[in-house]
Amino acid sequence: MTKLVIVGGGHAAAQAVTTLRQKKFEDEVTLVSDEPVVPYQRPPLSKLYLAGEIGPERMAILREQAYEAAGVTLKLGRRATRIDRAHKSIELSDGTSLAYDKLVLATGGHARRLTCPGHDLSGLHYVRTMADTDAMRAEFMQADKLVVIGGGYIGLETAAVARKLGKQVTVLEAADRILQRVVAPEVSACYQAIHEAEGVSVHTRQMVTAIEGRDGHVAAVLTADGGRYEADIVVAGIGLVANADLAAAAGLDVHPMGIIVDAQCRTSDADIYAVGDVTWHHNALYGRDMRLESVQNAVDQAKVAVEHILGEDVSYNALPWFWSDQYGLKLQIAGLSEGYDTLVARGDAAGRSVAFFYLKAGKLIAADCVGRIPEFMGAKKLIAEQVPVSAEQLADESRPFKEIVADLTLPAGGA
Ligand SMILES: Cc1cc2nc3c(=O)[nH]c(=O)nc-3n(C[C@H](O)[C@H](O)[C@H](O)COP(=O)(O)OP(=O)(O)OC[C@H]3O[C@@H](n4cnc5c(N)ncnc54)[C@H](O)[C@@H]3O)c2cc1C
Repeated sequence: MTKLVIVGGGHAAAQAVTTLRQKKFEDEVTLVSDEPVVPYQRPPLSKLYLAGEIGPERMAILREQAYEAAGVTLKLGRRATRIDRAHKSIELSDGTSLAYDKLVLATGGHARRLTCPGHDLSGLHYVRTMADTDAMRAEFMQADKLVVIGGGYIGLETAAVARKLGKQVTVLEAADRILQRVVAPEVSACYQAIHEAEGVSVHTRQMVTAIEGRDGHVAAVLTADGGRYEADIVVAGIGLVANADLAAAAGLDVHPMGIIVDAQCRTSDADIYAVGDVTWHHNALYGRDMRLESVQNAVDQAKVAVEHILGEDVSYNALPWFWSDQYGLKLQIAGLSEGYDTLVARGDAAGRSVAFFYLKAGKLIAADCVGRIPEFMGAKKLIAEQVPVSAEQLADESRPFKEIVADLTLPAGGA
């Protein structure tokens, strides 16, 4: 009888359970999460759930009954505080301990916190957990003026929801453009234009130095060049810190970005796996180590880890992809664009229907697709197959994209 313990209550943990069910694993499984609810979808926290358009009943990835049906013991609202590798057990915050034969760490990350003066005022919020969004919703709904610190996905999605509710919204970004970490300057410009057209005031190169308070509550955000932006509520989306302390304290190999895992998602201890946002892993397609913060990666890695635990000969070899929803527009990103030498636009950025393709040495390495599902689907295939493509072929709007991809990926000798 194998004892499998999963630590974490996010997408990776839920996928581990799903894969165990699919593989008809019948030994002992326990899932430990410090959140009080079953694993739920995180993306709606800055989208439909924040807007109040869907309620908590729509958030669970698997309903509680599914865990019962799979024979998984849930230990919710309890934190794993220590891993005792010598005795193969973990200690929990309720004073109990759990033995394991195989341990899966799916501990994700937490929102990076501001440390500037005013960081402890009420009215400053982060969006990582359901509790975070629940805690801010009433205030968010009532506020007239929202300042968002950080022009990444979470900040921009929050801004979009707030505009839809008619609030005055300011986005402050420290870099010289929004979405700088993930897209090319052209795509940043496209998204800045969309936000501005929707009425958001976007300010780049704005380093926040302090939050000014009134009666203990946020009143304004101050920036290094003397800017002062009034706020009833402030939401900061300034990045993720991996929850790797548990692993580090147990002596597992850890990188500053996350827990180091191999192609089977094993840590430096062969009986301990790590999956999802918490991992620092190698991506063979891009030939480099990375941390990915995406649902798809959490799902892909959890599958690999569980299948490997069950004795299958599997390796992680996934194409990263990601999406974001803002103003009803879907941004879908396939691959990673870093290191591209040519950028090709297909479509009309002003018309909010455009795909940006990133080429390196004549091959597609990534695509950012705004309202362009066929281009996103086709790009995934072209990136995975690494067939030579030209800028002209990709930009040719006289042909449906599916047809272009079909031609480019014909088997040798086919016609
Ligand atoms: C607001 C928001 C919007 C997002 N939008 C998108 C999107 O549109 N598309 C997309 O692909 N991705 C999106 N993401 C990212 C995506 O949600 C994450 O990549 C995904 O949740 C990672 O899953 P995970 O299971 O690895 O980690 P997490 O979801 O972070 O789960 C980790 C879990 O482990 C628990 N935990 C941590 N330490 C312990 C411990 N010691 N003991 C017990 N439990 C512990 C945590 O409380 C948490 O429940 C979004 C994220 C946020 C916050």
